Amino acid sequence: MPDKEKALKQLENQIRKCRKCSLWKKAKNAVFGEGAENSKIIFVGEAPGRQEDLSGRPFVGRAGQLLNHLLKISKIKREKAFITSVVKHRPPKNRKPDKKEIKACFPYLKKQIDVINPQKIILLGEIAFKAFFPDKKLKDFRGKSIKKDDKRYFIAYHPAAGVRFQKFRKILEKDFKKFSKTL
Ligand code: URA
Repeated sequence: MPDKEKALKQLENQIRKCRKCSLWKKAKNAVFGEGAENSKIIFVGEAPGRQEDLSGRPFVGRAGQLLNHLLKISKIKREKAFITSVVKHRPPKNRKPDKKEIKACFPYLKKQIDVINPQKIILLGEIAFKAFFPDKKLKDFRGKSIKKDDKRYFIAYHPAAGVRFQKFRKILEKDFKKFSKTL
């Protein structure tokens, strides 16, 4: 097994056994993420929802369907990207993960990024954005990119916002098309 694949597998096993916060108690599955271990691009969401919890796969519910559409119009193949979230176990009733849960889980995401070593990281929504840029405001950076530590971060709304409101869907489409020109 190639080194990266091995490192990701080990990390996935660690996450499955993780008890650093209590989300695991009500979750059916940990959702590690999926995609190419050599991907140049990682998409980071918030936390698994119901469908993700049931299947163990990221972005397979309604927000995932919109993400698939956004990838398609950006000409990005889902299987060539890597898709994950800040928090790996589903918060009950899809509530937002709290500060302690994010703090406990964020090191796993950082490790995934270390192993995969992508050039570009797309942050989807407030939770992902604040995990990386706690002192910045999403509204100032949505649709823009930030260079930090040798990586470029693209900032977008979470697809779930686009599922609920047509206005956000249009903005997501515009932002993804804009990002895709630089990928
Ligand atoms: N929303 C997320 O942020 N992540 C998922 O995996 C699914 C929905």
